Amino acid sequence: CGIVGITGNENATSILVNGLQKLEYRGYDSTGIYVNDQNGKDYLVKRTGSISNLKAAITDEVHGSTGIGHTRWATHGGVTVENAHPQFSQDNRFYLVHNGVIENFEDLKTKYLSDFHFVSQTDTEVAVQLIDYFVVNKGMDTKAAFLKMISLMQGSYGFMLMDREQPDTLFVAKNKSPLLVGVGKDCNVVCSDSLAMLDVTHDFLELKDGEVVTVKPDSVTIEDQDGNVVNRDTFHVDTDA
Ligand code: GLU
Repeated sequence: CGIVGITGNENATSILVNGLQKLEYRGYDSTGIYVNDQNGKDYLVKRTGSISNLKAAITDEVHGSTGIGHTRWATHGGVTVENAHPQFSQDNRFYLVHNGVIENFEDLKTKYLSDFHFVSQTDTEVAVQLIDYFVVNKGMDTKAAFLKMISLMQGSYGFMLMDREQPDTLFVAKNKSPLLVGVGKDCNVVCSDSLAMLDVTHDFLELKDGEVVTVKPDSVTIEDQDGNVVNRDTFHVDTDA
């Protein structure tokens, strides 16, 4: 239901949690964050219920400078910790948050991952396991695998992916679901509603359906489906109302 992400800020954990709190008004049934400290340590915390449950589960140890967060409004699979996002690949390399509904997820499971044991009941998990499959089994790099995964998806989505092997990078794409990139000072953010990140920046980039965006602490690269780099100006959001 809501998505937040940040890279390049040592306070990633608290910025993500505060961002999720700003999106509470949209409604949700579970929450989760994944953060990476860039030194080989990463943390996944997920809870059902309110953001206060998530906060209670986040110890001081849970820190990092790049991370993603999600509030879930369940569409496929019950309200459980396993079904909360981020969803992750079987080898704990890829972490994905998703807003929306993947209409053909059963077909994709049958076609690519028929022997695979899924941990969750979500439509989302097939997306992250597919990325892992394309990287590990088919030798693609992560961006190519992300693009390939998106090309197979029918439905609505805002997706944001992290790869443990490129821990300062957020891979982002959307279709019929809102998602923005915010440009900060020495850090960049991603959110489904600018409201979530106004404490960090007021300058945002609109994303178009089908684009793939690579967000690092000091750069934002937007590419169209054919891999052409797209230049786009930021717009300014004035109020924090
Ligand atoms: N369809 C996904 C799920 O049920 C995402 C729902 C959402 O947008 O929060 O897990």
